[in-house]
Amino acid sequence: MSKIRMSTPLVEMDGDEMTRILWQMIKDQLICPFVDLKTEYFDLGLPERDRTHDQVTIDAAEATKRLGVAVKCATITPNAARMDEYHLHEMWKSPNGTIRALLDGTVFRAPIVVKGIDPYVRTWKKPITIARHAYGDVYKNCELQIPGPGTVELVYTPADGGDEVRATVQEFDQPGIAQGIHNLDASIASFARASFEYALSTGQDIWFAAKDTISKTYDHRFKDIFAEVFEAEYKARFEEAGIEYFYTLIDDAVARVIRSEGGFIWACKNYDGDVMSDMLSTAFGSLAMMTSVLVSPHGYFEYEAAHGTVQRHYYKHLAGEKTSTNPVATIFAWTGALAKRGELDGLDELVAFSRRLEKATIDTIESGVMTGDLATITSLPNPVRADTEEFIAAIAARM
Ligand code: NAP
Ligand code: MG
Repeated sequence: MSKIRMSTPLVEMDGDEMTRILWQMIKDQLICPFVDLKTEYFDLGLPERDRTHDQVTIDAAEATKRLGVAVKCATITPNAARMDEYHLHEMWKSPNGTIRALLDGTVFRAPIVVKGIDPYVRTWKKPITIARHAYGDVYKNCELQIPGPGTVELVYTPADGGDEVRATVQEFDQPGIAQGIHNLDASIASFARASFEYALSTGQDIWFAAKDTISKTYDHRFKDIFAEVFEAEYKARFEEAGIEYFYTLIDDAVARVIRSEGGFIWACKNYDGDVMSDMLSTAFGSLAMMTSVLVSPHGYFEYEAAHGTVQRHYYKHLAGEKTSTNPVATIFAWTGALAKRGELDGLDELVAFSRRLEKATIDTIESGVMTGDLATITSLPNPVRADTEEFIAAIAARM
């Protein structure tokens, strides 16, 4: 059989721990036998990030700007424990945070729905997609530990030499902590546009929620920009498409989501989207069944799994034990990226291959062969609990 050809390479960002193991298996057994895979490879594994002083992450993001489509493996965001474990020079920032800050954009996360894996919430009939703003807020913060009494202020110094603006954050009479965060009107507007476009392209309603009652300037600005963009650019198109946009308080949104049937897009600020997408993916069945794509306003796409590096499984793997780690979201990161590359380059065969691999993956689960995370919750009778190798081999056999 001749392999499917690619023209433009994908940006390939390798990662850490168990997902790094999955990465290689997916390439070797599910992609390379069928596709003449072309990638520009960046090793975002923690040792290489440390060796390059995180330059490799920036290089990978720059390559994404050049080539347009990237696929990323889960990576460790270092904390104090990782400093010791990997003898790091520095507590490097989250690679996802760095990449998102460079590409801007919105992250769309949607659960992969399969027969036999029923959502915990009984009313949910359709997937719920989270549109997560991927720029700013606490992910690009400036933090201070306050050692003792003193004043913390916000100071704005206009670049054109105008009057300084100051606001007191807190007069500290004891030790504490302080944080400065920001966002940009242009980034919020492109978040709104990306979300509205996605709603139109998928024919789903869209909700946006923030905490404007408490954050009367910051969150309120998000609410206003969404309203302005909607009124000026999308109102008529939404009416025509028979879909709806509405704003509500984040607390109200959470309550409504649980009572809903699903089948809509929930636009979230950066932190809300981070947390709520984990809640949704677990509630839809498994963290390992959630896809994630960063869509930048400049037309760049970065595909990844929503879950982390599955550290607990990796330590078992290192100890020589079999693991039953679910590779589905990582497979869908690859198929998402390959299909987008195919679409942009006019390679129908590459798009068709991606859809076939997705179908083979879903069919394998629906036939009753699945990893442990799914086997424990499935409503299918007599599921076969496969280890990681067996599950990938079952998909390969189907391919
Ligand atoms: P995690 O890797 O998502 O795993 C948390 C738990 O969820 C696992 O222990 C496992 O539960 C279950 N799980 C997640 N993915 C699974 C899969 N594919 N198959 C089966 N079970 C799965 O989160 P974490 O343990 O909090 O974080 C580990 C590392 O990942 C951290 O260093 C963190 O910085 C990083 N991280 C990276 C990203 C990213 O790159 N996008 C995102 C999140 C976290 P059981 O142990 O019960 O089996
Ligand atoms: Mg999260």
